[in-house]
Amino acid sequence: MKIENLVRKNIAALTPYSTARDEYQGEIGIYLDANENPYDNSYNRYPDPYQKRLKETIGKIKGVETERIFIGNGSDEAIDLCYRVFCEPSVDNVVSIAPTYGMYRVAAEINNVEFREVLLEEDYSLDSKKLLAATDSNTKLLFICSPNNPTANSFPLKQIEAIVAKFNGIVVVDEAYIEFSTQKSLLTLLGKYPNLVVLQTLSKAWGMAGLRLGLAFADSYIISLMTRVKYPYNINVVTQKIVYDQLQKNISTQLKEIIAQRDKLSDKLSKMAIIEHVYPSDANFVLVRVNNAKKLYNYLIGGGVIVRDRSKIKLCQGALRITIGTPMENQRLITLLEKYKNE
Ligand SMILES: *Cc1c(COP(=O)(O)O)cnc(C)c1O
Repeated sequence: MKIENLVRKNIAALTPYSTARDEYQGEIGIYLDANENPYDNSYNRYPDPYQKRLKETIGKIKGVETERIFIGNGSDEAIDLCYRVFCEPSVDNVVSIAPTYGMYRVAAEINNVEFREVLLEEDYSLDSKKLLAATDSNTKLLFICSPNNPTANSFPLKQIEAIVAKFNGIVVVDEAYIEFSTQKSLLTLLGKYPNLVVLQTLSKAWGMAGLRLGLAFADSYIISLMTRVKYPYNINVVTQKIVYDQLQKNISTQLKEIIAQRDKLSDKLSKMAIIEHVYPSDANFVLVRVNNAKKLYNYLIGGGVIVRDRSKIKLCQGALRITIGTPMENQRLITLLEKYKNE
């Protein structure tokens, strides 16, 4: 499979915007090239369009070469760019699992690309044959979210790898929750599969949802295409600086605490009569099935605890998604649930 043949013609032919900083890349000097205000207030200069310093730091943490890293304004930017680079509107299509993260569909609709869903099994496992059977010669992207939102389970690494090996298109594996998973990341397979895109984010484990920083890892050819199509200055100076500083911190203690809390909460919930089922979780949330989801959801809001009602989506009848909070927050949830009388 040649990745070049999957790219939209207009994107392959695109001459990207050339920034002032593309033409001159030295460090010291008098910058009279970008029509900026010359008086320093920390923000008067345009940001580095290639986020070089940030990519070096992220590359070290993830063990990935900088040419294989794309930094976006949230994972949402990377998702949208996959469509814009590979999918010809009203011609190509995309296949994904259901239920899963909603942005894959929204980005498909915005880009006028047909979105095909393959339902997971009752136990939220994935039938690879069904998934591949939904693809055809116009399927450019296959989205797999693992650990999956909202079902909280991971799909076996070997199973995902086999899909990447078989599919004649781009497989996008969204690993937004990988830090909470017992399963390894697909990042180590990047060199082996030129059609693999791995998405990660700083919004969950890293605690930077407010800064908006998403990551795509792929073969350098795919990264170069995404870089050409993105807005030149997609990550602003403030975000680049704060993210760089935050990445110097060690989050392992927090991660351990969240995982321990998840397992403790799952255990407590599974012993409650009002909870019909607690799904095993490889993420920082648990999915539970209850008798009357809407009623319980409203009751919890009355008690000041907001969870996510997922009961209206496919295969999630009666399901609420609960993010793991601090020990105190989780205890408040348990106390409220213990008081709840299921009529
Ligand atoms: C939360 C989440 C993201 C993160 O999106 P950002 O735009 O990076 O904040 C990505 N994918 C999934 C499946 C998520 O649940």
